[in-house]
Amino acid sequence: MATRHDWTKEEILEIYNKPFMELLYEAATIHRQHHDPNTVQVSTLLSIKTGGCPEDCGYCPQAARYHTNLEGNDLMNVNQVKAQALRAKASGSSRVCMGAAWRNVKDGEEFDSVLEMVRSINKLDMEVCCTLGMLTENQAQRLAEAGLYAYNHNLDSSEEYYKEVISTRGFEDRLKTIDNVRKTNVTVCSGGIIGMGETVEDRAGMLVALSTLNPQPESVPINALVPVEGTPLADQEQVPIWDMIRMVATTRIVMPETQVRLSAGRTQMSREGQAMCFFAGANSIFAGDKLLTTPNPDVNEDMEMFRALGLNPQKPFVKKEQPKTVEAEESRFQNLGEKPKWSRPGHSIERNLAAQQKVKKA
Ligand code: SF4
Repeated sequence: MATRHDWTKEEILEIYNKPFMELLYEAATIHRQHHDPNTVQVSTLLSIKTGGCPEDCGYCPQAARYHTNLEGNDLMNVNQVKAQALRAKASGSSRVCMGAAWRNVKDGEEFDSVLEMVRSINKLDMEVCCTLGMLTENQAQRLAEAGLYAYNHNLDSSEEYYKEVISTRGFEDRLKTIDNVRKTNVTVCSGGIIGMGETVEDRAGMLVALSTLNPQPESVPINALVPVEGTPLADQEQVPIWDMIRMVATTRIVMPETQVRLSAGRTQMSREGQAMCFFAGANSIFAGDKLLTTPNPDVNEDMEMFRALGLNPQKPFVKKEQPKTVEAEESRFQNLGEKPKWSRPGHSIERNLAAQQKVKKA
C-alpha cells in the first residue's frame, strides 16, 4: 500500500474501531510489507538537563510549577554524555536521544555544548536524536551540521485536546518546529501520549495531524501516560493494553514506512502485551531503566524478551545514511543569538492550576 497523506478522522476511527483480530491482521500485513518484522530499533533516552521547565504540560514531572520530589540537574557535560552513549552502544542501542527540559533552545554556551554532544555521539557511529523544545530554522541547521540524525518534538494529542493539557504554547508552535527541522536533512520523530483523558476521536485526530504531514515523521512514539504524583494528571487511570495495541496498529496502517516506537508505559505492560504491540507494527523501543524521569524496564529484561520473541536490535543507519559531522570552527552557520517565537494561548486549565496551587500550599 502506498503512503497516503490525506487520511481523514472518520477513516482513522473506522480503522481503530475494527474488530480486534481484523485490525491486528491488517496492521501485521502492512508491517511485513514495509519492515523486517523481527527487527526492532533500540534507543537510549538520556536526560541531559532535568527539571525546572517553565512549561505547564499536565503530564510532566519536569514542569517547575508542579514537581515536588524530582531531583533536577543542570546540563551534563560532553564527557558524561559520551560515557553514557558508549554504555548504551555496548548494551545494543543504535540511537541515543538526548532530552533537555527546556521550553526552547537559546543560542549560547549551553546550545554549543549540546552541538558538541551531537558531534561526539555521531563519531561513535550511533544515531543521535535530540529533544530540546522549540527550535528556529538556524538552530535546526546547526544541529544538522553537527551530525544530528533525528529531532523529537511530539504533538502529544489532537489539536483540540492539546489545549486541555498545555496552556503555555500552542499546537501550531509544535508544527512550526517540525517544519523547521524538515528544512534540514534531520529526520522527524513525533508522536503522542494516550491515557490523558482524551477521547478516541482525539487519538484519531492526533494521527490525522501526523499522517497528513508530508513527508510523514520517520519515527512516531506512542506513549501510555505514566501518572506522576504532583502533576495534574496524577489520578488518570492506567491505559488498557487493548487501547495501546489498537493505537499502535492504527499508527502502523496509516503510516506504513514509519518506525512506530513503543515508548513510555512499558513497565505497566506484560511481555505478552508488548509482543502483541510488536506484532501490530511497533518496531522501536526505548531502552534503559529510566525514560527521562519515569521508570522503564531494565535493558537486560528487554534483551531477554527479544530472545524469547526472536527479535534482533536494528543496526544504526539502516533507514538513512549517517550524517557527516562538521566541526564547530568550520561551521557555515552563525550563532544568531536567537530564540524561537511561540504563541501564548493564554487560556487556563483548571487541573493544571489546581496542581500548581497544591505545590504552593505544600
Ligand atoms: S514535557 Fe517538555 S516542555 Fe513540557 S514541561 Fe516537560 S520538559 Fe517542559
